[in-house]
Amino acid sequence: MLRLENINTFYGNIQALKNITMEINEGEIITLIGANGAGKTTTLMTISGIIASKSGKIVFNGTDINGISPEKIVAMGLSHVPEGRRIFPQLTVLENLEMGAYLRKDKEIRSDMEYVFDLFPILKKRKTQTGGTLSGGEQQMLAISRALMTRPKLLLLDEPSLGLAPLIIKQIFEIITKINNENGTTVFLVEQNANLALKCAHRGYVMENGEIILSDTTDKLLSNPEVKKAYLGI
Ligand code: ATP
Repeated sequence: MLRLENINTFYGNIQALKNITMEINEGEIITLIGANGAGKTTTLMTISGIIASKSGKIVFNGTDINGISPEKIVAMGLSHVPEGRRIFPQLTVLENLEMGAYLRKDKEIRSDMEYVFDLFPILKKRKTQTGGTLSGGEQQMLAISRALMTRPKLLLLDEPSLGLAPLIIKQIFEIITKINNENGTTVFLVEQNANLALKCAHRGYVMENGEIILSDTTDKLLSNPEVKKAYLGI
């Protein structure tokens, strides 16, 4: 579904991504793990067209999307839940969800809204409340729901567990699995919480200093001595 070939991304003179090559197949949950500053967020922002890569290919469902505008990429079925959620704080929950459906013209927007309310019933209770008044966990649920309102084929999630209580994290990860199982939505999950991410995903990539240093099934990564030492604290 998505293939990155030799992607090089720079911030000025600083090279944040070095020859990144990776592949995500339809129906998979793939995780990218790595320390602070490894380049995980930059990878997602490069895929969704927010930052331009200097060279390389990003092929999404057969089309090279490198250099295409972010809104066109969303319309093609690739949606990004950014780090820090970035919901619209002044808009209500309902309006935030409507913004997610902004590019759609079909008649199933209401039923999709009911679907996200089934996934996260708390959002239904809060639907007239403004986004900025929600708790961190509720904002993360809203950010995921807003992305789902675009009807993505591929969902990019940047650190969904960041700053949340363990019980909320568990709930969010259960929903990620459910979206993947029930809708067949392909998920690309970036996480600093390697333990959690490797338990949720099918395959994983490990990034260090802008490079992919390892890639394997999550079972193998979980038992890999280097991964255990560097990322799992065992
Ligand atoms: P974190 O988990 O802390 O978000 P990350 O793995 O997502 O880390 P990135 O945010 O992608 O890492 O950062 C990769 C590298 O690019 C880091 O060295 C970072 O300092 C640098 N970088 C990120 N954003 C910018 C920017 N806007 N300008 C300059 N350098 C940047």
